[in-house]
Amino acid sequence: MTKSNAYAAPSATEELGPLTIERRDVGPHDVQIEILYCGVCHSDIHQARNEWGNSIFPMVPGHEIVGRVTAIGDHVKTFKVGDLAGVGCLVDSCRTCSQCEAGEEQFCENGSTGTYNSKDKNGNVTYGGYSTQVVVDENFTLHISEKLELSAVAPLLCAGITTYSPLKHWKVGSGHKVAVVGLGGLGHMGVKLAAAMGAEVTVLSTSDNKEADAKRLGATHFVNSKNEEKMKSLKGHFDFILNTVSAPNSYDKLMNLVATNGAMVLVGAPPEPSAITGFSLIMGRKTLAGSLIGGIKETQEMLDFCAEHNITSDIELIPMSKINEAYERMMKADVKYRFVIDLASLKN
Ligand code: NAP
Ligand code: ZN
Ligand code: ZN
Repeated sequence: MTKSNAYAAPSATEELGPLTIERRDVGPHDVQIEILYCGVCHSDIHQARNEWGNSIFPMVPGHEIVGRVTAIGDHVKTFKVGDLAGVGCLVDSCRTCSQCEAGEEQFCENGSTGTYNSKDKNGNVTYGGYSTQVVVDENFTLHISEKLELSAVAPLLCAGITTYSPLKHWKVGSGHKVAVVGLGGLGHMGVKLAAAMGAEVTVLSTSDNKEADAKRLGATHFVNSKNEEKMKSLKGHFDFILNTVSAPNSYDKLMNLVATNGAMVLVGAPPEPSAITGFSLIMGRKTLAGSLIGGIKETQEMLDFCAEHNITSDIELIPMSKINEAYERMMKADVKYRFVIDLASLKN
C-alpha cells in the first residue's frame, strides 16, 4: 500500500478537507498513475452531499482523471512508465456479462465499480481523483494524446463521454437540429461535439451571460429558456435535445420543442423527480430517453475523436483548496465551463 494525499467529504453536510488515503500495491494488471489534473463534475456534488442517497463516507470524489504512469504491473501490455493516462467513471466491471462483452461496462449486469463512492471486488471503498495518485487496472485506463492541453483533456473523461455517447447512439449529424439544455460542464462539451459531428446546435440556457460563449463554442442559436414566448416559437423544432440540467426542470415544456419522431435524452440527473404528461410524447411519437456515461471502448474512441478534431474543455484551473468554493459556484450555474483541480497543489 502507498499513502496518497487526498481531499474528502467527511459527511453529507460538511465541506471537503484533507485526508490521507492508501492505494493498493500495483498488481500484475495494474497501472499506477500520478494524477496531474482532475475535473469537477456535478455528480461529485450530488454524491458528496448524498443527494442520490447512496453515499459512502468519507468520500474522495473525482472521475475526470489525467496523469502520468509511474509504475506498471508485470502483465501490463499497453502502457509504459511515463505515458499519459486517463481514468473516467469506471475502474472495473464483471467483464463477462453481455453488456461487458458488448463494451458497455457502464451497464454491467453484475454491477460495475465506480471510480469513487463504490466498492471493488474485494469490498474496499474506491477513492477518486481528488488525490495525488491512483492504481487502476490496465483495461479501465485510457490512452491520452500528447497533442492536447492536458488540464483541458481531464473533463473529457466524464463530461466528454457522457455527451458523445448519446450523440453517437442517436446518430446525430449533419442536417440535424440539436438543442443542448444547460451550458455547464456537460452542456459545453455537448455543444462542441454536436457541432463537430455536423449538427446545427441551439443552446437553451437560464444564463443570458453565456450567449457569446455558446456561439464561440459552436452553437448557431442561443435561447433563454425562461423566455416563454421564444420557447413556444420553437415548437417541434428539434430532432434531438440533450438535457444536461442538474436540477428539476420542465420535461413537458422541452418535449414540446421536439419534432415528430424526435427524442430528448436526459443525461442530467437531478435528485428530485420532474413531472411529464403522456401527451407531450404521444403527440408526435416522441421519445424521452436517458444515457449513462459510456463504455471503455467508446471512451477511447471519444478521446481519439477529440484529439483528431482538437476538442478540449474550456476550464478554470483551481488549487485543491478552492474546491468548496467551486461547488458553491456550480450550484449557482457560475461555471465556465469546467473547474479542473491542479493536483500539484496537493503535493508536499
Ligand atoms: P454543471 O456544470 O453544474 O452544469 C449544469 C447546468 O445546468 C448549469 O450550468 C445551468 O446551465 C443548468 N442549470 C442548473 N440549475 C438549473 C435549473 N434549476 N434550471 C435550469 N437549468 C439549470 O453540471 P454538469 O457537471 O454538467 O452535470 C449536469 C448533470 O449531469 C448533473 O446532474 C450530473 O450529475 C449529471 N451527469 C450525468 C452523467 C450521466 O452519465 N448521465 C454523467 C455526468 C454528469 P445554464 O446556466 O446554461 O442554465
Ligand atoms: Zn461525471
Ligand atoms: Zn458485466
